[in-house]
Amino acid sequence: MSASLTGGAKVAGVVGAPVRHSLSPLIHNAWIEALGLDAVYAPFSPPEAGFAPFVQGLRGGVIAGLNVTLPFKEQALALADAPTPAAQAAGAANLLLFAADGEIIADNTDGTGLLSAFARQAPGFDPAAAPVVILGAGGAARGAAAAFVAAGAPEVLILNRTLARAEAIAERLGRGVRALGLDQAAHAFAGAGAVINATSAGLSGQGELDVPLAATPAGCVVMDMVYKPLITPFLAKAQAEGRRTVDGLAMLIGQAVPSFTAFFGVAPPAGVDVRALALKSLGLNERIWRRC
Ligand code: NAP
Repeated sequence: MSASLTGGAKVAGVVGAPVRHSLSPLIHNAWIEALGLDAVYAPFSPPEAGFAPFVQGLRGGVIAGLNVTLPFKEQALALADAPTPAAQAAGAANLLLFAADGEIIADNTDGTGLLSAFARQAPGFDPAAAPVVILGAGGAARGAAAAFVAAGAPEVLILNRTLARAEAIAERLGRGVRALGLDQAAHAFAGAGAVINATSAGLSGQGELDVPLAATPAGCVVMDMVYKPLITPFLAKAQAEGRRTVDGLAMLIGQAVPSFTAFFGVAPPAGVDVRALALKSLGLNERIWRRC
């Protein structure tokens, strides 16, 4: 939030249920403050059944836009008038933009965030060099699969506890995307250039994912979208096997960058260390966890 907020301030925000845990207000408001914008980024948490009327009521540019998080990403896409190819490919939107003429534009910046996280924390990683394995078949996995297909991955393997959900993504994305059960992990990992946990397993208080990361090649990069805890049991296991790892906080910051530009018409300032702010808010020592 800008220190000199006026009645003409530009408003954007994040909508989810729950949204209390979101780091997005911290990140966007730090950028707003550094740029001295007359703007604010706020959290919104309508009841699940109230999401559609909430979004419809914002038509006409009441606010610039919204980031969308669980459990509203699919609904957000369905409500939009103009989905971008990235949102269509992912089958979900994490960004809604409200045009003055009433149009709602849906986009998905999770894929961009994911690839920028790899670029920052695994320099030299080439998404087109080897098959990519994605664990999970929810909205996040769909976005990740679409991003890696677009980035030229020779094959994307989607492994999920519920095979039918993985098969639906493979069918949607077409050639080069295959669905497997989690019991096929050792086989899928054998030639992988990257393995990404896009399940919610590993999230504080949820179950762990028991997959044989030792079966990955030595050069494989292992990523976890979960960032609470920052080093999940999955990433800890990958590090113990000597693999390079990428964390979910880098993805969160990566997806926020194009969102901020779309809301406020200006890129985030380079000099603000939003990762350090986020780590502090997560109660982590930035000198230990600093990676980018
Ligand atoms: P979702 O739609 O609810 O999907 C959850 C997925 O996790 C499903 O594939 C589910 O399998 C699987 N799963 C849950 N618990 C499991 C367990 N114990 N063992 C094996 N599989 C399990 O969620 P989502 O939107 O895709 O998000 C997934 C995760 O990514 C969440 O933790 C979310 O916070 C994170 N995320 C992070 C970022 C970021 O910027 N870092 C961005 C987006 C999402 P079934 O289909 O069998 O139920």
